[in-house]
Amino acid sequence: MIQLYIPLNFLGVIYREIKQSLTDLEKMFTLMEREREIADVPGAQPLRLHAGDAAVRFEHVTFSYDPAGSAGAAADKPARTILHDISFEIPAGKTVAVVGPSGSGKSTLARLLYRFYDVQQGCILIGGEDIKQVTQASVRAAIGIVPQDTVLFNDTVEYNIAYGRPGCSREVVETAAKAAHIHAFISSTPKGYDTMVGERGLKLSGGEKQRVAIARTLLKNPPILIFDEATSALDSANERAIQAELQSVAQNKTTLVIAHRLSTVVDAHEILVMDTGRIIERGTHGALMAQGGRYAQMWALQQSAEVVDLAAA
Ligand code: ATP
Repeated sequence: MIQLYIPLNFLGVIYREIKQSLTDLEKMFTLMEREREIADVPGAQPLRLHAGDAAVRFEHVTFSYDPAGSAGAAADKPARTILHDISFEIPAGKTVAVVGPSGSGKSTLARLLYRFYDVQQGCILIGGEDIKQVTQASVRAAIGIVPQDTVLFNDTVEYNIAYGRPGCSREVVETAAKAAHIHAFISSTPKGYDTMVGERGLKLSGGEKQRVAIARTLLKNPPILIFDEATSALDSANERAIQAELQSVAQNKTTLVIAHRLSTVVDAHEILVMDTGRIIERGTHGALMAQGGRYAQMWALQQSAEVVDLAAA
């Protein structure tokens, strides 16, 4: 019993930390399939997505992590509303970027889209279907995440990449690794794709781990993507290269980017500027610059910096 309890308890702790940081949600969700905060409605059907149909819509979403009456809520404290009446649309194949200070609610938007929590008011639609009414598994199958910091399995490089499409061949893994520009690095190691990585194996740099996540996402080939841009400074050449790869992965995908860099947001279909759980400005880069508000201030503050972090402005 104790032997069973300790690993399960340990996994529970890791799961909570990972869920919180949006680090490798997919992997941990699969491992912790049984620890669910939300349940499918009785008779829930899988999400039915038709080609070119993967628009995402937030409609009047209001959310608090501990709503009154929930298990985690303190009896004497009113629930703190984290998102207030948020509405926006990511048309199929387009990119919406979210910027704003730390704690403004950017990652919460991503957690709700991945359905880690259900919204208390309003709804989130994918392809016109309310994600609360369909199976969680089908929502997650439709979404690929490139997190800030990819946690790798203590297994081979091949296994870690193939995780995007279990059972695929070495050739397919190599093709994805080439597209994510990690193939040359892998091939330069003595054991190549059989190299063990993770805590007990080869340690990869932040950029290399992100490339593994990109290769995984390429294999999964989901219609919807969430990118949580790394805030940690990669060197700028590496940064630009990864940015370019992310952009090519996002081509024709419906993409939500938690953005820290101007290069990402400039081409976005819409930029949402968040502050304390509200969208305080929205529009294209050009429109927001013309408006001369908070976004324009961020831009002015940051344009001199080589690595631009929009959340830190
Ligand atoms: P950052 O740029 O620092 O990642 P963010 O804009 O992504 O910040 P969120 O992580 O969405 O911000 O957090 C929004 C607010 O929700 C913060 O005030 C945070 O403290 C709170 N919050 C986040 N997770 C939880 C949780 N599990 N329970 C209670 N409150 C939470």
